[in-house]
Amino acid sequence: MEKIKEAARLLVASHKVYALTGAGISTESGIPDFRSDSGVYTTMDPMESLSINVLLNEPKRFYSEGFLLLEDLWDKEPNTGHKILAEMELKDYILGVVTQNIDNLHKKAGSQNVYEVHGETRNVHCMDCQTHYGFRVMQEQVHQGQIPPRCPKCDGTLRPNVVMFGDQMPIDYINAQSQLAGSDLIIVVGSSLTVSPGNFLPNLGKHLIIINHTPTPFDAEADFVFYQGAGETLSYLMEVAEALGKD
Ligand code: NAD
Ligand code: ZN
Repeated sequence: MEKIKEAARLLVASHKVYALTGAGISTESGIPDFRSDSGVYTTMDPMESLSINVLLNEPKRFYSEGFLLLEDLWDKEPNTGHKILAEMELKDYILGVVTQNIDNLHKKAGSQNVYEVHGETRNVHCMDCQTHYGFRVMQEQVHQGQIPPRCPKCDGTLRPNVVMFGDQMPIDYINAQSQLAGSDLIIVVGSSLTVSPGNFLPNLGKHLIIINHTPTPFDAEADFVFYQGAGETLSYLMEVAEALGKD
């Protein structure tokens, strides 16, 4: 109890605060993470299936492996953790969310200022003319056996707006990095902090709170670590912060 109160005190006393989220915030929405015992790594190697190498050189494999992971995100809904972060932004406890997730759930929950450092699955784009289309345009072609899917405008190759293993980091990452640098507090939620770029970001702020089921390499540097569920811990943190009142 005392620990959550101290963490809430740090939250209300901090002005420039960001949440940094990973796959663990979305497991409560029924999306498996990569590294838990029930994670995706138990059935396939996403570093292969979601790599730029496989996308470009083995498209049949990409659309029968990695693509299934992307498609699976479509009907998922935000959970308590996503909703509390949206509320925290609305009430000025945090400035926004930097997420490694590609499931669109922060935006679906109502977060406004979201940096999607690994891209998103709402849209796809043509690698030749750069035109963007809804994810469904790609999905329909794939289901009809058109692999790789083609740009309706120029017949170039379409690809997902997801940052694949081996891709360059997008502009959202550069922007997120500069926002986090010099922030007062970063609240990590549901990330093993072992994957690039997640493992470069947590120590950019002055203070650090980590909410993750399992230990991370940054625990020793953190002000507070909660080995607990994302939704329940964020709810509790928010509740205690509300009781304290914002500065
Ligand atoms: P990760 O799988 O490496 O780590 C997730 C962490 O969350 C684990 O340490 C686990 O112990 C913890 N966790 C799981 N459920 C939790 C819960 N309910 N509450 C608190 N903690 C919980 O994920 P990562 O660090 O984000 O790195 C994996 C990469 O894979 C990321 O780059 C991400 O883009 C991608 N990915 C995204 C999704 C998604 O969009 N939802 C899903 C899987 C993987
Ligand atoms: Zn095109």
